[in-house]
Amino acid sequence: KAMGRNRYEFFTQNLQAEIVGHKRTADELLAGLENHEFTTRYQPQFDARTSQLAGVEALVRWNHPHLGILTPDRFLRIAEELNVAATIDQIVLETVLKDLKRWAELGVSVPRVSVNVSSRRLHDEKLIEGLKLLDIRPGQIAFELVESIFLDEHEDVVARNLEQISGLGIDIEIDDFGTGHTSIVGVLKLKPQRLKIDRQLVMPILHSPQERALVRSIIDIARSLGVETVAEGVESMQHAAMLRELGCDLLQGYAFARPLSFAEFTEAAIVRWARAAA
Ligand code: C2E
Ligand code: MG
Ligand code: MG
Ligand code: MG
Repeated sequence: KAMGRNRYEFFTQNLQAEIVGHKRTADELLAGLENHEFTTRYQPQFDARTSQLAGVEALVRWNHPHLGILTPDRFLRIAEELNVAATIDQIVLETVLKDLKRWAELGVSVPRVSVNVSSRRLHDEKLIEGLKLLDIRPGQIAFELVESIFLDEHEDVVARNLEQISGLGIDIEIDDFGTGHTSIVGVLKLKPQRLKIDRQLVMPILHSPQERALVRSIIDIARSLGVETVAEGVESMQHAAMLRELGCDLLQGYAFARPLSFAEFTEAAIVRWARAAA
């Protein structure tokens, strides 16, 4: 009995520490938004056949004053709870548009940048108005959306927004495909430009014939409906070769590059990738 009580106290102490820590992170995050502490990393995507730079994903980072560069797993959940995930998405989009101008000035050709869009943002009635204020050229930006957004209650607003987003020349990509419970047919009905196959499906293709067959059929179905496929989490050249054989269009992962800062990305684009394409 005594031990049970101890354990209970231990539990509440832990919980209390967690709540205090959570509160502190929340305060710091709101301050970080004011202080412009959010930045982006860029991870390239390559054409599986020609090896040319074919796209880029922008990934948010928090440059925390004491902890350094933090990845989204450290703050995105709290940002959602605080209702500021859409604010972060907007900061990332504006940063990307600025960086696209800088790349153009430097003569670096960057085909297209994909940004991640939280589901909450897609429910925003004012999203389209805001996007119209930005100078987005057709085909320059893609929105990565997770499949679960198609399962929730605000279906009509989401559908309307998706249509208008396409109307603005922004590509639609389904992110992390294969981790949710949506059917491929349901997802492809929304006519996305691209389907991103999740790392969890990509990883086992070398040693598991079943998983390989699954990825092959996803690619085949997508292709038959005119939807491109992007493999994420491509960690080895063996994976890249297999995905090419399976007919995957674009490859993204550590085998090619980690998410890079603007300067690192620009240098690689000039020194390595431009030459590889030439
Ligand atoms: P995601 O959209 O699926 O992005 C891919 C994640 O996989 C990134 O993690 C990337 O760094 C990582 N990755 C890329 N290649 C490899 C690989 O070969 N192996 C492994 N193990 N991982 C790889 P990151 O940057 O930590 O982002 C995590 C998630 O946070 C993203 O997953 C996305 O869902 C979310 N996220 C990132 N940026 C934003 C943003 O601006 N807004 C919103 N709403 N969500 C974002
Ligand atoms: Mg993504
Ligand atoms: Mg993804
Ligand atoms: Mg993923």
